Amino acid sequence: MNFSEPDAVEALARDALSKHVVIGGPARVNRDLIRDMAGLGLFAPFFSKGVGGTGDGSISATVLCAVREGLARVSTEASTAFATQIGGIFVALRHALPEARQEWVPKVVSGEAVSAVCLTEPELGSDLASMAMPAEKADGGWSLSGTKTWIMKAPDADIYTVFARTSGSGAKGITAFLVPRSSPGLTGEAIDALWPDRVGNMHFDKVFVPDSHVIGPVGEGFKIGMGIFDAFRPSVGAHSVGLAEAALRASVAYAKERKAFGQPIGGFQAVSHLLAEMATQLQAARLLVYDAARAYDEADRRRLGPASSMAKLFASQAGQFVVDAAVQIHGAAGLQRGHLVEHLYREVRPARIYEGTDQIQREIIARGLLAERRGN
Ligand SMILES: Cc1cc2nc3c(=O)[nH]c(=O)nc-3n(C[C@H](O)[C@H](O)[C@H](O)COP(=O)(O)OP(=O)(O)OC[C@H]3O[C@@H](n4cnc5c(N)ncnc54)[C@H](O)[C@@H]3O)c2cc1C
Repeated sequence: MNFSEPDAVEALARDALSKHVVIGGPARVNRDLIRDMAGLGLFAPFFSKGVGGTGDGSISATVLCAVREGLARVSTEASTAFATQIGGIFVALRHALPEARQEWVPKVVSGEAVSAVCLTEPELGSDLASMAMPAEKADGGWSLSGTKTWIMKAPDADIYTVFARTSGSGAKGITAFLVPRSSPGLTGEAIDALWPDRVGNMHFDKVFVPDSHVIGPVGEGFKIGMGIFDAFRPSVGAHSVGLAEAALRASVAYAKERKAFGQPIGGFQAVSHLLAEMATQLQAARLLVYDAARAYDEADRRRLGPASSMAKLFASQAGQFVVDAAVQIHGAAGLQRGHLVEHLYREVRPARIYEGTDQIQREIIARGLLAERRGN
């Protein structure tokens, strides 16, 4: 199976995952979907053989993007589950002690356990270096107290990569921990949000985490955590491209079939040119996404940060433009709960917020530009 082709992934998803697609239903963690995705071998290439995968442990951002684009054309829920499942355990896979890694990574690869990442706190999301949730040294481990918010798959996920402050202030002094859902003192609840997928809060009341479940060196959590964004930001763009492709296709079909004033609405230039603009924005977004993925795969350190931010910024905005236009073309029908474009309208908006807002992406792009100019 060629996972680097969105068309091939889409065909696979249509065949094997369509039965899980529910549009307009309540947000949930769909464990059957995740298990079936694991059964199709979607997660395995991103993990090495020693932990249940089929790869060499390296992540191809191009493949990540191709899978997300292909999945999102069929099921945005599958695309997000794919990203959270790999992203949720990404840091532990690379930096956890062997005992913790062997306990949890194979369960995530097989779809038995659902994973999640906890960075955001009620008082801060963009300024992660200032995160405050304390982790205090305890006998044989650490004690975590506080709240993490807007966590994908919370509170249902089974294993959480949690970032907390172990000393000082600023980026130094943040440490990553692997925390099972069953840990005493860990509770959570779902957030009722515009987004159609599962997101929630997690509350830590003196949650004990043994030293064996500290991920990477104490105080180095920020540095290793930021690696998630390098790898996954282009894939947020790919997710937007995939869902926008679905919106465009639905709009073209509707423009041919829906009649007004005695002719198909696609015969009105106002509608056909809107379709042309949607297709153009979508293709431009796609090119930026795969360019950023290539920068990651080629370890092009100079281009990687700005290219990923451009891809995420442009593709999530283009996605929103395309979906909004799709709603317009569908008229009232597109606003009905359970309609594909109504679902996509709610799905696409948060992509401009999570994994760094539009404004933060512009900051990264601008910083790169100014540093480059200074270096000249
Ligand atoms: C659907 C969804 C899923 C999410 N999933 C996760 C998850 O799995 N794990 C997790 O840890 N978090 C998750 N988040 C949280 C997300 O990462 C944060 O919401 C995001 O980083 C923004 O933080 P904030 O909401 O606190 O906004 P704030 O940081 O408070 O920002 C508010 C506004 O100020 C702007 N702003 C802030 N700083 C600057 C600046 N320096 N320059 C210009 N403008 C600025 C922002 O762009 C924004 O417009 C999720 C969020 C959503 C909506």
